[in-house]
Amino acid sequence: MSAEQGKLCHEVRIELPALVAGQLDQSARAAVEEHLSFCPGCQFEWQEQELVWRCLSQCEDVDPPEELRNRVRHAIARLE
Ligand SMILES: [Zn+2]
Repeated sequence: MSAEQGKLCHEVRIELPALVAGQLDQSARAAVEEHLSFCPGCQFEWQEQELVWRCLSQCEDVDPPEELRNRVRHAIARLE
């Protein structure tokens, strides 16, 4: 394991909202996706956020849990 190994979980999680919002550039996205490919914990978090993001941006019918929605909203708000 070296420092070049890739991102740590907390670094990846900071970037997940930007990933689901499509705001990461290609190299940042590749680094996050690489981490996701071997880290189930971050993968779970990512899927959760992607689901909420999709609901926030397109569907009014689905109702994700308020707590989760707020978490993603705050995370996305921090990007702006
Ligand atoms: Zn991770």
